[in-house]
Amino acid sequence: MKKIDLMIHTGMMYTMQGDGLGFCQGKSIAVDGSKIIDIDETENIQSRYQAEKEIHAEDMLTLPGFVDGHMHTGHGVIRGVAQDIDNWMMEGMAPFEAARSAEAKDAGSRLAIAEAILWGTTTIGDDGSAMEGAIKFIEQSGTRGNVSVRVRSALPKAYKKGELYVLDEKMGEETLGEALSLYEKYHDRDGGRIKIRFGPQGADFLGVGLLERVKRIAKDKKTKIHMHLAQGTRETEQMMMRYGQRTIPFLEKMNYFDEDYIGIHLTDATKEEVETVAAHRGNMILCSNSIGVIAGRVPPAQEFLEAGGNVGLGTDQAPGNNGHNMFSEMKATSCFNKIKYQSSTIMPAWKVLRMATIEGARALGIDDVTGSIEVGKCADIILIDLKNPQLAPVYTVPMRNLVPNLVYAARGNEVDTVITHGRVIVEHRIPLTFDLAQIIEDAQKYADVIGAKAQKQFEEINGRNAQYMREGKL
Ligand SMILES: [Zn+2]
Repeated sequence: MKKIDLMIHTGMMYTMQGDGLGFCQGKSIAVDGSKIIDIDETENIQSRYQAEKEIHAEDMLTLPGFVDGHMHTGHGVIRGVAQDIDNWMMEGMAPFEAARSAEAKDAGSRLAIAEAILWGTTTIGDDGSAMEGAIKFIEQSGTRGNVSVRVRSALPKAYKKGELYVLDEKMGEETLGEALSLYEKYHDRDGGRIKIRFGPQGADFLGVGLLERVKRIAKDKKTKIHMHLAQGTRETEQMMMRYGQRTIPFLEKMNYFDEDYIGIHLTDATKEEVETVAAHRGNMILCSNSIGVIAGRVPPAQEFLEAGGNVGLGTDQAPGNNGHNMFSEMKATSCFNKIKYQSSTIMPAWKVLRMATIEGARALGIDDVTGSIEVGKCADIILIDLKNPQLAPVYTVPMRNLVPNLVYAARGNEVDTVITHGRVIVEHRIPLTFDLAQIIEDAQKYADVIGAKAQKQFEEINGRNAQYMREGKL
């Protein structure tokens, strides 16, 4: 009998194999090291293997872990400071971001990543600059990282509407240098658990020469470009002022779009532009909650799907979402698109569940290792406790109601166990690889400092939230 690390005895399971959800029942999963090595009837698995650890999940629902395609975990420490306002970045984020130290950012990353893990995410699609702290926590926590390191040359400051970003060559070089050094240090670490991507912040945030270099380097290094794309009117304005051209035609001329391109948001893309990106086999990450809250818009994911492209989901950042919960993201995606198209049949539950798992993995180019429960892939698996009022009662005849309830009723705290890369990292809702209470305490400590530091600029900008404070509405 072969000795293996882990055996999971499942009840009902969605594997995401095939074009549907790959439902099956009464199987056991054999895991050795990071990989799923066998899936079969329980008695067959038990006759072939002896496991170090066995998990009895017959009463639970087994799913692949969620793939969060786009996050800014470092913003976790400024959660909830930039909603309900006109200019989210300059009016809302700017004073808090200016006051956020490198240590505070890392504390925010730990908080956001811990939160995502608890709600069943097994791939953290982080994006930002000064990423080493976040990568180290990804490594420590045992989760999967698809980390994009930001390259930009636009100097950070509170720009006024119509004011062109100041591009600084030195800053561009430094950020590219960070991306390269983190790539060399961490890419493919721990059997490919951590991937490093190159992240030009957006076509408006760096000049043509640097954009070209990043593209060439990403190709040479056989990694991907992860980049905000047509993310809003602010970007379109900057592109028109600088180049007299909208982002997508501009990047198409530079041959930027291909299967190694991951475009984030596409909020401001026209139908034609969406089709351009999809035709070049580029990929899209849709952040429904974030774009809904900060821009009041629904990005054109439906058009992207209709054009044959891959779409994954992302939670973006805590000052405009306000969290990293893929259940909430699935529900928002389904509801917002139903409202946009005035149709109850758009973005059904099964489709958004696929987007949160296998199709998201495909969009990120990591579907060879995650996104479904299949022999040969890594064991990225979550177990859902069905004994929660919002998931009860369960119907299996004449239809299964599990998936509609997961998408429209579940909140995230139904996730009992999280297994990533073959390792159990949450068991019975208790994290095994990090100290959650300490993480929350650290974030609070830094938030107290940030708040005091941000006050002056916050009041000078005198945005809507400053007025709400004076009026007793916050
Ligand atoms: Zn973003």
